[in-house]
Amino acid sequence: MPTRFDTQTGHDRHGFYPQAETVEDFQRNLAAVQARIAAACLRSGRDRSTVRLLPVSKTKPESSLRLAYAAGCRYLGENKVQEAFSKWQGMQDLTDLHWSVIGHLQTNKAKVVARFASEFQALDSLRLAEALERRLQTEGRGLDVFVQVNTSGEASKYGLSPEEVPAFVSKLSAYPALRVRGLMTLALFSAEAERVRQCFILLRTLRDQLRQSAPASIGLDELSMGMSGDFEIAIEEGATVVRVGQAIFGARVLPDSHYWPSEPGSGGGSSARPLN
Ligand SMILES: *Cc1c(COP(=O)(O)O)cnc(C)c1O
Repeated sequence: MPTRFDTQTGHDRHGFYPQAETVEDFQRNLAAVQARIAAACLRSGRDRSTVRLLPVSKTKPESSLRLAYAAGCRYLGENKVQEAFSKWQGMQDLTDLHWSVIGHLQTNKAKVVARFASEFQALDSLRLAEALERRLQTEGRGLDVFVQVNTSGEASKYGLSPEEVPAFVSKLSAYPALRVRGLMTLALFSAEAERVRQCFILLRTLRDQLRQSAPASIGLDELSMGMSGDFEIAIEEGATVVRVGQAIFGARVLPDSHYWPSEPGSGGGSSARPLN
């Protein structure tokens, strides 16, 4: 079915974004991303205040994160908990800087997240919910969480299948330290905008269905979807959080297979992932 928009993905730029090396670079990149967010909101009839930009700083050194902070960033997203934790330790002087862990978490690392993160976007098992709850109770903290959904159907992606989500979400009210905010997804990594858009539509539709069935304590306002290559399409389909790394910080040196399980046979040797 054709959609109202013909927005293309920027996945062909993946791996080619220039490095941000000064506060001015960060200011310029942030302003450019903000302008694109505003334009996407305008054409889809959405209020700009309903979309939050989460800058993603994974692989970048502390010096680079400090420049982003100086340019105004107060929330940073990191994919790997150990990397996030050591950055947090090194930047304790920035008391109003908050951390969002957006990548898959092993149950035995729950205690690390419970210590320092403000938000966790990749909840995908009850064992993990249980472990987080226990550690959060010990720490006397709460944590904003998003349930990660695999909307692309790729076996290599983390997250629950859409069919699993209703039963999963209905069990989360047993964990009061976890403040459920909504759903998160990574779309298909493809230059075919229409297939990418279908992933976002699926997440929104699922959220709308859950609103009929989920316990009242479960928040379902948030849809975290969209990254450098596809955040405008995500906004057109209802994203309330977009997670943008390279368009703000510059391309990453480490291949993305370091962060996402690679496709079988893809090798994972280059920073530009193969397009589907
Ligand atoms: C790295 C990452 C992003 C941001 O990707 P960019 O291409 O740098 O914008 C978004 N979400 C998750 C889960 C990530 O790991």
